[in-house]
Amino acid sequence: MSQPIEAPRSAYQIFSREGLLGQREMESGIRQAMINFLEMAKIPSETGNEKDLRKVLERFADQYDLPHQRDEIGNLLIKVPASAGYEGRPGSILQTHMDMVCVAEKGKDNPAIKGAIPIIDPEDPNYIKADGTTLGADPKAGLSVALGLVEEILDPNSKVKHGPLAILATVQEETGLFGARKCQFDLGKYQFMFNLDSEREGKATVGCSGAGNSILEMPLTTETASIDKRFYRISISGGIGGHSAGNIMENRANAIKLLASTFAVIRDKNPEMQIQSIGGGYFREDQSPINNAIPGDAQGVVAINSGSEEELSHVIDEIKATIKTDYPKETKLQMSLEDVSPLQQTVMTAESTTKLIDLLIQLPHGVQAEFPDISYIPKTSINLATIRISEGSDRAIITLMSRSADFADLNRLRSQIKGIAEGRDATVEEPEAYSGWMPNDNPSYPINAQAIRAYKEITGADLSLVSTHGGLEGGPFSLLYPHLQIISIGPQIDDAHTTRERLSIPSYVTFYRMLKRIISNFSSSDQPLE
Ligand SMILES: [Zn+2]
Repeated sequence: MSQPIEAPRSAYQIFSREGLLGQREMESGIRQAMINFLEMAKIPSETGNEKDLRKVLERFADQYDLPHQRDEIGNLLIKVPASAGYEGRPGSILQTHMDMVCVAEKGKDNPAIKGAIPIIDPEDPNYIKADGTTLGADPKAGLSVALGLVEEILDPNSKVKHGPLAILATVQEETGLFGARKCQFDLGKYQFMFNLDSEREGKATVGCSGAGNSILEMPLTTETASIDKRFYRISISGGIGGHSAGNIMENRANAIKLLASTFAVIRDKNPEMQIQSIGGGYFREDQSPINNAIPGDAQGVVAINSGSEEELSHVIDEIKATIKTDYPKETKLQMSLEDVSPLQQTVMTAESTTKLIDLLIQLPHGVQAEFPDISYIPKTSINLATIRISEGSDRAIITLMSRSADFADLNRLRSQIKGIAEGRDATVEEPEAYSGWMPNDNPSYPINAQAIRAYKEITGADLSLVSTHGGLEGGPFSLLYPHLQIISIGPQIDDAHTTRERLSIPSYVTFYRMLKRIISNFSSSDQPLE
């Protein structure tokens, strides 16, 4: 018999008055952590506006007489002294960010203004979600667990002994890991960093990629097309596209590269071909390029001497056939050829046309290097993300996003892009890149071993160690603090960054206990420390 769906209930009431899912014997720390979470969810903390949430953390530190400091960008470090006699034990940092992605359904208040309203998921009482907005479990689940745990161990009756601890809460993670990149604290006395921002129970992240954009601007010379030219639009649409971290190794078509190679074939047969316009990839409402999306759409208009239409459609048919064999998964990808009569007869000169085609052909896209021992993510990749022609048609603007777990590889790849671009008279802007964090999935690496052991002791199950081709705060931290061992763990959070975001309550409880176990295991003397 299916249960009737209950009206959304206030999650706060359930935890503070009825007890955590009816479990009266729940550790006080978990209850406190959950209450902290529900309170924090109500505090607006959009990226760049973390101050109210930081105030809550500072008040917390003051309440327990914990020394705390803020750095220039706005990160907060709260120090928790070791238990008496445990000062020499390894120091651990509990780290996550304070900012959240704020999205609301139509008709709901954006959580950036009023915070989220946490409710029990009407479809599954094991989950907390928000009322039509993002919940902010990313990052507040981890943050609240850190606070609850510190409260529990500072209780005079607590049996948990621990080495030096710190809570490190960063700003501006969601828009480019800026807090982590600009972190100024002296963390020399800590050996371990537990990033609490993972979203998969049972999986710990032990490595990630760094990334950096390259913005190319190629000057174009234009002229009026001669009257014997005819204009054709070539459109590529319906490519799968996808995320440049998660999908780059799946051999999906890059519509911009496809269009460029189509132009090259046409030019080889019609050397007087001239490009009138070209555009591809995705842009935000403010026209800024979306560099982490693989372009599934691109289109351009070319001018060709009249009389070559038949040959042109033949070329297109041949390319379509090649796409079918080269990209078997691209079943929805369409390429079309259309005769057009543009109002403006302005085209790029033959020289600019050639330079632009050659640049697009030479620019790399896709996986550039693999790991010797990890097969599910690449080590280094690049996404040729967007192209557009400037207003005034005097420049082609191309953006690319490079990723690598190895910062030296990342920088080499970006220099390679720069060299290719400058060889075609393009200028290159390179916004500062952030570092990756080289995967270390050795289960006996001390921080990994501690996490595996604690998860096993709490759940009886094996923790798996995974790496990601995306960017995480562990990347910049591993560059700034090479002495730190880092691991990223967290409770199960579904659909973060969307209005469907929800936090699994049982996995929150598991996560709390796991972290507490790690901290107390560090204080027992039989543990390997180096
Ligand atoms: Zn996060």
